[in-house]
Amino acid sequence: MPDLDQILQEIAVEMAAEKDRGRVASYIPELGKVDAAQFGIAVAMNDGRVFTAGDVQKAFSIQSISKVFSLTLALGHVGDALWRRVGREPSGNPFNSIVQLEHENGIPRNPFINAGAIVVADILLEGHEPKEAIGELLRFVQYLADDASIHIDRSVAASEKATGFRNAALANYMRAFGNLRHVPELTLGVYYHFCAVEMDCLQLARAGRFLAHGGRHPDAGHSVVSGERARRINALMLTCGHYDGSGDFAFRVGIPGKSGVGGGILGIVPGVASLAVWSPGLNENGNSKLGSRALEILARRMNWSIFAPRN
Ligand code: GLU
Repeated sequence: MPDLDQILQEIAVEMAAEKDRGRVASYIPELGKVDAAQFGIAVAMNDGRVFTAGDVQKAFSIQSISKVFSLTLALGHVGDALWRRVGREPSGNPFNSIVQLEHENGIPRNPFINAGAIVVADILLEGHEPKEAIGELLRFVQYLADDASIHIDRSVAASEKATGFRNAALANYMRAFGNLRHVPELTLGVYYHFCAVEMDCLQLARAGRFLAHGGRHPDAGHSVVSGERARRINALMLTCGHYDGSGDFAFRVGIPGKSGVGGGILGIVPGVASLAVWSPGLNENGNSKLGSRALEILARRMNWSIFAPRN
């Protein structure tokens, strides 16, 4: 195997020298305060080894990466019935777009755009108080990463609540179609707290390990989800994980990935490793500019694209 530790160090040096780092998301005021001059990367190999470089212990807002964990939980609650309320096709539209919803009768294209994740939050709220649904997701990521110190940054959730007019529009619109069972304000509160989970790269890479391990928790040994469900979540990450930049990410990197506007990306190399990268500056699709670039270099040098021939 190529020297992964050395490759990561080289990538971190190259990224530190980058002048064009993209733009930090500022539509959520709390996120706008983050310094763009940061970069971290972590790899949790299926054999248990861990490799890191850069600002690997700096916690960041995972934002839409939480959609992977909330979807996993919701599938556990309602199984395939979830697909009656959310589709499985790439949207080709920005993450917060409302246009498709009207044509498609309030059924969001997929669980990784905002509208889809708001329906997923609504499913997780069923039969619970908002704080129970929020606690369930937090405990789930703590369990996956085997790290009880992971927490939610309530100031980020509050900041998004105060400015989330588009998400409020999406939620109200879906409620009008009968695809939201709770008062939009309650469902959105749950959704914002999911997005406001904070993790560092190492914690995030560890939380993604079950998807690289055919659904099994590598420490606990038991199944988080079935192998088939892990494959399907990975497929959705590949096709829908980067909004209207999903095709380009598959083209350049070639692995399932999910980005968030906090600048993080979770990447999965099935059977091999779970990867997390973070750099807060975003490209025009709202995906981490240097994060995508770093994963492109890493996947190429390690031959990790799922489209590469297997030997
Ligand atoms: N909380 C963000 C929003 O709803 C998530 C978007 C993202 O990370 O892409 O706008």
